[in-house]
Amino acid sequence: MPERPQASAERPKGSAVPAHITHIKGLAFAHLEEFIVSQHGEAGMQRVLARLSPETGKILHSWNASQWYPMQNVVDIDLAVVNALYGGDVKQAYLIGRFDLDRSVRQVYRLLFRFLEPTFLLKRSAKLWSNYYDRGALTIEQIQERLVLIPLSDFDPVHGCLCHVFRGAFAGALEACRARGVTITHPECVLEGARACLFQATWIGADSKA
Ligand SMILES: [Zn+2]
Repeated sequence: MPERPQASAERPKGSAVPAHITHIKGLAFAHLEEFIVSQHGEAGMQRVLARLSPETGKILHSWNASQWYPMQNVVDIDLAVVNALYGGDVKQAYLIGRFDLDRSVRQVYRLLFRFLEPTFLLKRSAKLWSNYYDRGALTIEQIQERLVLIPLSDFDPVHGCLCHVFRGAFAGALEACRARGVTITHPECVLEGARACLFQATWIGADSKA
């Protein structure tokens, strides 16, 4: 049996994708500070910072949107959040991705999205993937009206917590486009030996276009 990713910085063995340094745009840090402070207050922020090196902690306050950062910085911060605020439960990293997507899609866009297909933003995110990551490709395969497969290929997520952040972001993208009862599962993971990280999205309906 493959090892379950733990809330430690250690990389699980048996990954099918060779380790390489992936970079991520600074924009990825845009809502982390707001997430921590709005959900857990300044005290929560101090607990997160206590788990980070001063250099990594500084990124939370002063990221540069267009600069590339090693993805390890994001993993370290996400892990610090999970360990300091969620008892080490990596699944809760879902909340980080969902919050980020929610804040990225401001009210003006939200008004537009409600007239579009529930998968509109998800498909758009896939097209924009390379603007945010220097490795990997995200594809959206619509199997049924409310069933979508999302393979993320040629990408080493480094740690399972990042896969949960993605789960949250995919849920947020569907919800911004009115999807209701969204569930995102992650049946295959590179960190457990799969060739690509595969996500599956289902939802039960869409809110009315009122
Ligand atoms: Zn994965």
